[in-house]
Amino acid sequence: MSALRVDVLTLFPGLFDGFLNESILKRAIDRGFVEVHRWDIRDWAEGKHHQVDDRPFGGGPGMVLMAPPVVAAVEAVQAMTDHPGRLIALSPQGRRLDQEWVRELAGESRLVLLCGRYEGFDERILEVLRPESLSIGDYVLSGGEVPAMVVIDAVMRLVPGVLGDAASAVDESFGPDGGLEYPHYTRPREFRELTVPDTLLSGDHHAIDRWRREHRRG
Ligand code: SAH
Repeated sequence: MSALRVDVLTLFPGLFDGFLNESILKRAIDRGFVEVHRWDIRDWAEGKHHQVDDRPFGGGPGMVLMAPPVVAAVEAVQAMTDHPGRLIALSPQGRRLDQEWVRELAGESRLVLLCGRYEGFDERILEVLRPESLSIGDYVLSGGEVPAMVVIDAVMRLVPGVLGDAASAVDESFGPDGGLEYPHYTRPREFRELTVPDTLLSGDHHAIDRWRREHRRG
């Protein structure tokens, strides 16, 4: 059993290929800390053409995601385990994600992420499923997949064991103490005549801590 199971419902599961197969997330999955399951909403669509979107009643541009396949997909996926999980629809109209919310989500055992496309969801999807609505910022993307990746990335790194050094999730920007992190330096000691602050080379840990506190950016 993983600490965190994420189910993603999308029309484009392939978009997650590279994301799930590189770096920290791949390691977290391989080591069993996180499980990510992708589901193609189209598999729950009826008819020969597996239609998932249609023109908006009342006219206007674009296509709207249809209620029957989306609701069927979410209900089927939520019923797959004992715990239906926390259902979150990605939407520019949702509550804006911040690190505090990320910390809360990292404490869950299951997240179900619903990605929109085109003009978004038929309103009855939201009325029937009553998901939480999550926005990654005040701009419009073409789909909920990149926002879902943002959520998965931010949350999985707070799952205990995922980061090699647990301190890196505390001592960073938007940490429990608030504010932003201090500047970092690594080799070389001099780059284009810019040097590393002496204190950081001093080996004096008290002085280094003080320097870092004083240089937090806000
Ligand atoms: N017509 C909608 C925008 C649809 S964008 C409106 O004007 O509000 C298509 C899909 O992309 C959305 O259903 C949502 O799932 C996703 N999306 C776009 N921008 C997003 C954002 N800032 N945060 C989260 N999801 C977003």
